[in-house]
Amino acid sequence: MDVATITTPAVLILLGPPGAGKGTQARMLEDKFGLVQLSTGDLLREAVAAGTEAGLAAKAVMEAGDLVSDEIVIAILRDRMAQSDCAKGVILDGFPRTTVQAEALDGLLASNGQKINAAISLEVEDAEMVIRISGRYTCAGCGEGYHDQFKIPAEEGKCDKCGHTEFKRRADDNAETVASRLQAYHAQTAPLITYYDGQGVLKRTNAMGKIEHIASDLERIVSETMN
Ligand code: AMP
Repeated sequence: MDVATITTPAVLILLGPPGAGKGTQARMLEDKFGLVQLSTGDLLREAVAAGTEAGLAAKAVMEAGDLVSDEIVIAILRDRMAQSDCAKGVILDGFPRTTVQAEALDGLLASNGQKINAAISLEVEDAEMVIRISGRYTCAGCGEGYHDQFKIPAEEGKCDKCGHTEFKRRADDNAETVASRLQAYHAQTAPLITYYDGQGVLKRTNAMGKIEHIASDLERIVSETMN
């Protein structure tokens, strides 16, 4: 796959409710533009699995579909962004989710002489979210995302990307938790759309269509905002 030339390391934010396709699209952009996807959800799930102090504090909150404290999430994100691979540029998936996090990110980027290229809002209807989330699963080997209805492996039971034969579903992808996650999104994260509009970096995309159509729309937006 060809990788676009980057003149300055880009910082892209994908905003959108759970199930909007942020992870799927971030992975496609990662391949296309040679950027690094940073998902605070993935980082937190790793912390939970490793049993770290942050993971122990986050576990019950995540299972309830609430937001983990800003302090924990900001610390995790800051540590990850300090790693050398992030110098290529990053796609933030699931961060920031509160105004406090957005302000912390602004401070972190300013201290590194970086800025946000674009905050892209993936716009979808709540009813669609429940269908998307309840059918999704990932490859246990490489994390490639699949869906019972919308994206099944070409060869049944085998990952298209790495050939692995085990798949997993997230503990919080169930109807009750999804309702709390959507509520948290509307109350705490949706105001960031106005926040980034005020900074002049907001882009919007209709994320109700087919994965490939949304991907090409995002590629266009990212290409326009990268250099
Ligand atoms: P995600 O994988 O992005 O859907 O996140 C899964 C869960 O991790 C969320 O429901 C939250 O409990 C937690 N989480 C992930 N990112 C954040 C964040 N930026 N702020 C607070 N909680 C988060």
